[in-house]
Amino acid sequence: MPSLFSFIDNMLTYYCPNCWKRIPDGQKTCPFCGFVLEEFKLQTYEKKLILALHHPLPERRNIAAQILGNINSTRALEEFEAILKSGETNYFFLKVVLLAIAKIDSPKRIELLKIATTNQNTMIQELATTLIEMVKENRPIPEWDRGTG
Ligand SMILES: [Zn+2]
Repeated sequence: MPSLFSFIDNMLTYYCPNCWKRIPDGQKTCPFCGFVLEEFKLQTYEKKLILALHHPLPERRNIAAQILGNINSTRALEEFEAILKSGETNYFFLKVVLLAIAKIDSPKRIELLKIATTNQNTMIQELATTLIEMVKENRPIPEWDRGTG
């Protein structure tokens, strides 16, 4: 999926992946925090996507989470766990994160989904409970729909 990857590369180009301030194109280091952007370009796409889970624009965080689920990124599970425990309240982001976790083939996914069953938002609790059942029954996990949230 090269087009998706170049999209991710592009969406990170204009934001520092360390301090997430908007930066002019063509900089070698971030003018705000000094982060070496050249080194960042050598990171794997998976690592870039994991960093993009903290992107200031919610739409981009959502897309990063969705792709991490679709590429079966077991490395993203640690970051997803941190998000679930951080008190994150953005319903749409939590929804995409849960759908992504459910798609990642790891014994840890049930453990993480269980964390979300105690979320303060009842819709998130219900989604987590449903996803646990779907994972246990080996049912296909639905795709997040960008249009309807
Ligand atoms: Zn920076």
